[in-house]
Amino acid sequence: MPITTFVQPPSGGVVAWNATTGFSAVGPTMGATPLLSMPPLMPSMGSVPPGMSPAFLQALRGPFGGGEGTSAMGTGAGMNMGMGIGMGMNAGMAAGPFSPPADSRSHSSSAARNPVHPHAYVTFGAGMRQRDIDAYTAAHPLPGQNTVSGVREEHAVPYYVPMSAHPVGSSIMMLGGFGFVSRMHGLSVDNVVEVEMVLADGRVVVASEEGDPDLWWAIRGAGPAFGIATRYKVRAHPIPIVFAGNLIYRFHRATAASLIKHFRDCVKNAPRELYANVLLTAGPADKDSLVVIQMCYAGSREDGLAFLRQQDSVAQVLRGKVGRQWFLRSSLITSLPDEVINKTVLEFSNTPIGCTWIFELAGGAIEDFEDTCLPKEQRAATWTVAALHQWDMGIDDPRCIETAEEWMKRTIAPVATGGPLPTFLGRHEPASRTMASFGASWSRLAGLKARYDPDHVFRNCFWPLDARGEPLDALVNEPPSP
Ligand SMILES: Cc1cc2nc3c(=O)[nH]c(=O)nc-3n(C[C@H](O)[C@H](O)[C@H](O)COP(=O)(O)OP(=O)(O)OC[C@H]3O[C@@H](n4cnc5c(N)ncnc54)[C@H](O)[C@@H]3O)c2cc1C
Repeated sequence: MPITTFVQPPSGGVVAWNATTGFSAVGPTMGATPLLSMPPLMPSMGSVPPGMSPAFLQALRGPFGGGEGTSAMGTGAGMNMGMGIGMGMNAGMAAGPFSPPADSRSHSSSAARNPVHPHAYVTFGAGMRQRDIDAYTAAHPLPGQNTVSGVREEHAVPYYVPMSAHPVGSSIMMLGGFGFVSRMHGLSVDNVVEVEMVLADGRVVVASEEGDPDLWWAIRGAGPAFGIATRYKVRAHPIPIVFAGNLIYRFHRATAASLIKHFRDCVKNAPRELYANVLLTAGPADKDSLVVIQMCYAGSREDGLAFLRQQDSVAQVLRGKVGRQWFLRSSLITSLPDEVINKTVLEFSNTPIGCTWIFELAGGAIEDFEDTCLPKEQRAATWTVAALHQWDMGIDDPRCIETAEEWMKRTIAPVATGGPLPTFLGRHEPASRTMASFGASWSRLAGLKARYDPDHVFRNCFWPLDARGEPLDALVNEPPSP
């Protein structure tokens, strides 16, 4: 399959936009094979725009490229949000970045297929990584009805498990999981239907809606503090086609704020089908910092183009030239006022190479779910914010950590709900921030922790209290990295 390597953009304006209309087969899955099962047939189907084929997003490579198959997780190397997005949606699915798959023309002229099932279930072991799951569901499209001929085709519509925008491991199924379809289908935790797990007393249980209601409530958001998951069963949703791409600009201190404000205004009231973020990324060495707008529209190119046109006008705003370790800080915010944007741009000018700051549009279906320990006030946030910093092991630059901490404290905190989604709880978080992630749910959650894990067996996670219920020092919260 063709791979196009992304290169540093020439000066000025929009330098890359990629529309995907193609589909290609995927490679074999790795590790234990997930199982796919289907609920009863849909009584009636939503429409897929006529003239569109079953298709999916091709890999988008981020601002600095990155090797196919490399992962930011585990080693901390190669952290790159753009690459993560491409790989996360498409591991092994399609042609390389910024070039349509070879067969896209033939598919784009063929008829759409309506999914026959409203959703499917995917079962996988807890060690499975997001990329494996994506690859599996992409390799196993489910039946669809041809909108022109009316004929049912057995392998027509790809399904997608709601997971992170950046491909990570499957523990997000118990911690949050914010990504491309969260605004459409909720977080990962909202799509889990069953978790087989080992509790602190050694019992192996299958937590689900039919089981212990307290445990079911607690593990969707705070799972690692309650047990070791061994198997997940989760919902996957039909995503017949996606229109997605990056808009990439050189970062310029004088103009970046206007660009971000324009982006914010464009995505205000966006439909739930739209995933959108804007990120600032510093370096790599000898390269300009960039402002990148990433969008993924779960719908046809025609519909998606409306957003492209909006974003094209952003170019007018921009007048200026256009073994690692990592540190993560995140928050949920209720608004993105001009002042926050202005301060963010000024502060970002001082970050060292390898720092990425990102605002991701939240809202939508995330607010629809109420029966987990992630409280309403957290779910009502309009943006997730994250500082994702990476730097070489040999570099000892305190700014790699301090700039993220300061940004969160000075600029983000005034509009923050208090804590991030638990999936973004970093090591060494102060107890107060962790508790704030659970807001109004905290006291019930702490009571359940005392009941299910009185000896504090599951301590190597975000849980901020010791066995006596006293706040832990941030630095002993987790063992050091090996
Ligand atoms: C660069 C980067 C980008 C990211 N982007 C996103 C994003 O787009 N969306 C998002 O939601 N999150 C994102 N995250 C956060 C990420 O989702 C979390 O770090 C996530 O927990 C990683 O999953 P993992 O399985 O690899 O976790 P690990 O790092 O392996 O573990 C995380 C926690 O889960 C526990 N755990 C692991 N396995 C199990 C198990 N089987 N049973 C019980 N507990 C277990 C561990 O003890 C630990 O406390 C990002 C992180 C980074 C570094």
